Amino acid sequence: MDKVVCPGCGEEVSLRGVKAGDRIDCPNCANLTLRLKEENGRYFLVEIPQVSCPTCDRLIEVSEDLRPGDVLTCCGEDFLLTYEFGAYALREKSAKG
Ligand SMILES: [Zn+2]
Ligand SMILES: [Zn+2]
Repeated sequence: MDKVVCPGCGEEVSLRGVKAGDRIDCPNCANLTLRLKEENGRYFLVEIPQVSCPTCDRLIEVSEDLRPGDVLTCCGEDFLLTYEFGAYALREKSAKG
């Protein structure tokens, strides 16, 4: 087993030198960051979700221990992580509603 299928483009990605838990960048998917997972001896790739900072538009990775309602900091400001319509987003903490 040295290849897995990328969930973004459906192409096979080489696992050479990569272990479970490592990050992989698919050569075909410039905006996709993937992590290699292993379950019951099967390897597969999951997309690492990203959110963009409302202030600077920088993409921030949503690590696995973050949940909606958690706070991320960028540009010296705190943002609330939200999850709506299948995607994460950041909202200014001070903004209500
Ligand atoms: Zn891909
Ligand atoms: Zn920012």
